[in-house]
Amino acid sequence: MSLPDILGRIREAERVAGRPEGSVTLIAVSKVQPLDRVEAVLREGHRVFGENYVQEAQGKWPALREAFGPVQLHMIGPLQTNKAKFAVELFDAIHTLDRPSLADKLARLADARGVCPDLFVQVNTGEEPQKAGILPGDADKFIADCRALDLPLRGLMCIPPEDQDPTAHFGLLGGIADRNGLTGLSMGMSADFEAAIALGATHVRVGSAIFGARSYT
Ligand SMILES: *Cc1c(COP(=O)(O)O)cnc(C)c1O
Repeated sequence: MSLPDILGRIREAERVAGRPEGSVTLIAVSKVQPLDRVEAVLREGHRVFGENYVQEAQGKWPALREAFGPVQLHMIGPLQTNKAKFAVELFDAIHTLDRPSLADKLARLADARGVCPDLFVQVNTGEEPQKAGILPGDADKFIADCRALDLPLRGLMCIPPEDQDPTAHFGLLGGIADRNGLTGLSMGMSADFEAAIALGATHVRVGSAIFGARSYT
């Protein structure tokens, strides 16, 4: 696959779902990819990227922004509270607001800086013990608590269990967003972004289908 192929499939999925063209943002997930692959996608004109690790992103994006101009960066990996300060300086959006202590920290940073990245609350739709995220049953209260802190909530994010049909999880996330008046839905990855778009995704996070398989060695 390539960037134009993926963009074409996104536009087609929007059309099939009866949604306006351009209503879905493609976040190109560049974590642990070789720099030349990332530069190639930048050269093709793409300007929205996702990263999972604060340190890796810090080492890569200041120079790339220098070279290529403004790039919208989305944090999609678990965020440690002690890295939150670096994250809010680097990222335009954080998709992994998953606990009260992080909400408190982000609120303090927002007060001090006067600006805050767009925030997505991560919901553990599969209620998997090893996975981060607010449990579905706790989501309404957590969203209300974040709003009481004046945090700029943009929407919700989920990572469905690997061994299940993701559509039930996308539907569950959409329902929680609807009843809380949130319009952003960060869901869908390389294997299932079209299904996510059919169920209302506004942000799809696609890595390997654009860049090729990741190698962690
Ligand atoms: C790595 C990652 C992706 C991209 O996964 P692909 O299957 O390579 O598209 C999307 N979302 C999150 C949270 C990730 O960690």
